[in-house]
Amino acid sequence: MDIKGLLFDKDGTLLEFHQMWLKVSQGVVTALSHRYRTEMQMHLLTEEHLLEAIGIHGEYVDNHGLLAANPVEDTAEAWFKMLTPSCELVAFTTQVKALFNQQVEDNPSLIQPLPGVKATLIKLKQKGFRLGIATADTKDSTIYSLEKAGLIGLFDYLGYSDGDIAPKPAPALLQGFCERCDLTPAQVVMFGDTVSDMAFGLNAGAGKVGVLTGTATQDELAPHADFILASVADFEPECLAR
Ligand SMILES: [Mg+2]
Repeated sequence: MDIKGLLFDKDGTLLEFHQMWLKVSQGVVTALSHRYRTEMQMHLLTEEHLLEAIGIHGEYVDNHGLLAANPVEDTAEAWFKMLTPSCELVAFTTQVKALFNQQVEDNPSLIQPLPGVKATLIKLKQKGFRLGIATADTKDSTIYSLEKAGLIGLFDYLGYSDGDIAPKPAPALLQGFCERCDLTPAQVVMFGDTVSDMAFGLNAGAGKVGVLTGTATQDELAPHADFILASVADFEPECLAR
């Protein structure tokens, strides 16, 4: 089967992950701890506790943690259970999403394409591949960060999680890409930096390429990927024939 569509995770796969999401998450947690000072004190919580709950341990981001692998709704739910605020989960989730979007927009200099990725995407587009995004990020943050990185015009499909579609690793975003571009899952390869991205490709019936520019190591990705590249920038379509 000829591969005609290339679907990409965003953070850690096309854009620099660590610097950006550490800073953004720390900013969100600081804002949250001001807003929920009473709840923080009541449950003896520190900002570190909230960060650890989403997989941030100091400067280390856990590949399987909520920040690296899950949509923001899951982060909001984890913090909701810890803080037990008086509002409903839906309202709390809306607040958390708004804080993340605000932090992303407050830190535009941290939004950087990974080295060489833009040139590779342009080359692939010129070769006739349909290109798409499948991210756990929200709509606003996805559009904003791809615009800032100068990549948004390259994509035929932007798949994001905003509470209205089943997030990765459910196959819905890959099915959306196929519908938009008139492809079958077998004609698609998914590129990602997490085990969740590889499970997503598998669940949807697509190929899976792991990249080492994000949170996972070679050993973590290897059992789940068809093959692994140091970066999307190293991808040559000839790799698919092997
Ligand atoms: Mg990622």
